[in-house]
Amino acid sequence: MTEPALRRAAFLDRDGVLNVDVGYAHRPDQIEWVAGAPEAVRRLNEAGFRVFVVTNQAGIARGLYGETDVSALMAWMVDRLGEMGGRIDGWRASPYHPEFQAERFAHLSHWRKPEPGMLLDLMSEWPTERQGSFIIGDRASDLDAGRRAGISGYLFKGGNLDAFVRDVLRDILK
Ligand SMILES: [Mg+2]
Repeated sequence: MTEPALRRAAFLDRDGVLNVDVGYAHRPDQIEWVAGAPEAVRRLNEAGFRVFVVTNQAGIARGLYGETDVSALMAWMVDRLGEMGGRIDGWRASPYHPEFQAERFAHLSHWRKPEPGMLLDLMSEWPTERQGSFIIGDRASDLDAGRRAGISGYLFKGGNLDAFVRDVLRDILK
């Protein structure tokens, strides 16, 4: 087995970046794609970035849904994006919340953004060049996780994600 090549990576928050944040989405019928999301992923693929999704899913700790629901929904989203021309290289979801079942998920407390654990775990699987890598999120905690993982961050406030990514790439590649 050869080690994967060192590449730059784009880390994307899920709810509020790829799909409209309706609060604790855990079924495909709750997924409304953000405008330009599939095109944005494809644009990142074509620019040579690995594309990862990193999502806090405290709904697991809160007992609203299970880890298998998250896995199934993520597989569905990765498949749909693939059909629309965008490749997701990997994803991580953090079930942890400090106020709900904290002991059960304590081993993953460092995964909950703003902690950088999900990003670092992906980086350990996929050698990642931090220079030029970034996270896009709709909350400060997303950007904090990026900063703690040693990469830059861009706050997405809504609109067309592909147009946003085009501007991010212009900034990163200048
Ligand atoms: Mg979000």
